[in-house]
Amino acid sequence: MRRVGCLLLALAAAAALLTGCAPEEHEEIIFAMDTVMQLQAWGDGAEDALTRAVQRINELDRTLSVVNENSDIWAINHGQGAVEVSPDTLHLVELALELWRDTGGALNIAMYPVVRAWGFTTGEYRVVPEPERAELLEYTDLGRLELDEAAGTVTLPEGMELDLGSLGKGYAGDQVMDILRGSGVTSAIVNLGGNVQALGSQSDGSPWRVGIQDPEDESAYLAVLEISDLAVVTSGGYQRYFEEDGQTYWHIMDPATGAPADSGLISATAVGASGALCDGLSTALFVMGADAAADFWRGREDFEFVLVDQAGTIWVSEGLEDSFSLAQGYEDRTVEVVRR
Ligand code: AMP
Ligand code: MG
Repeated sequence: MRRVGCLLLALAAAAALLTGCAPEEHEEIIFAMDTVMQLQAWGDGAEDALTRAVQRINELDRTLSVVNENSDIWAINHGQGAVEVSPDTLHLVELALELWRDTGGALNIAMYPVVRAWGFTTGEYRVVPEPERAELLEYTDLGRLELDEAAGTVTLPEGMELDLGSLGKGYAGDQVMDILRGSGVTSAIVNLGGNVQALGSQSDGSPWRVGIQDPEDESAYLAVLEISDLAVVTSGGYQRYFEEDGQTYWHIMDPATGAPADSGLISATAVGASGALCDGLSTALFVMGADAAADFWRGREDFEFVLVDQAGTIWVSEGLEDSFSLAQGYEDRTVEVVRR
């Protein structure tokens, strides 16, 4: 029936044919995990799947939030002894521990006391002086966290606090992709506060075009990645910061110093199949800096990267060479392709 309808329409107007027979677009825009999220999916089943995806995001927000008194993270941070947590929380803490070890401590979900001292949790910003930083760092040793997989518990020493802000959105994106894929959706794209995750390709079969924001101009993209079925996650100093005495202080902390990361990078994008991994890695790469990030990447096969340094140079790992292009107006930027 549908095909016959299209043929009839074709006789009338080609444009009407295109709209009439293209898969229908569905969209949800919500505020969750402290950010605006946009979810778009095409085709049969997409509407119901998006409704369930939104429910799942809200559930994860309640479970993983560092400020919600009913969350797992609150229970870990304020409880005593072994705290029983959901499989989601257990999985994410495990992944974070693995990445903490793999990244030489650059990703550290125990930085919360430091992030708070700098004012990023309240907006009451201040430059934290050196002796205080050293004191705070004593409470950031993730090696002291105990995780009992069989019992489903996490135990944190007094004074330590966890915050999954560096990888929770990526995990939510993975969960959304699973729900959409499981519902038979073959074309979808979500933007969870700058974490872009794509399912399949665009409904016309062409790859998704994901812009990489110019860290120095909120309204512009400096490059475009053409991707399918991948997560593109960016960490940038421009996303949350304050200025004092001509200095900019941002929300991504170097666990080695207790101060905002000063690696020479102003944005770090990780691209790969897993949103949670890419989210954790984008934060870690930002802390590491271009050289260490490139070395780290050479030791793995599960992600690619785009880094922007203070001089404006863009570092692109070779796996993205063909999908990366500079945006209009940025053609004169220096691009360094990093090889294995
Ligand atoms: P993202 O936007 O994914 O890079 O995550 C940044 C957020 O993670 C910050 O707002 C902090 O709450 C927290 N954070 C800051 N520095 C680190 C770090 N080195 N490792 C893990 N989480 C961090
Ligand atoms: Mg991150």
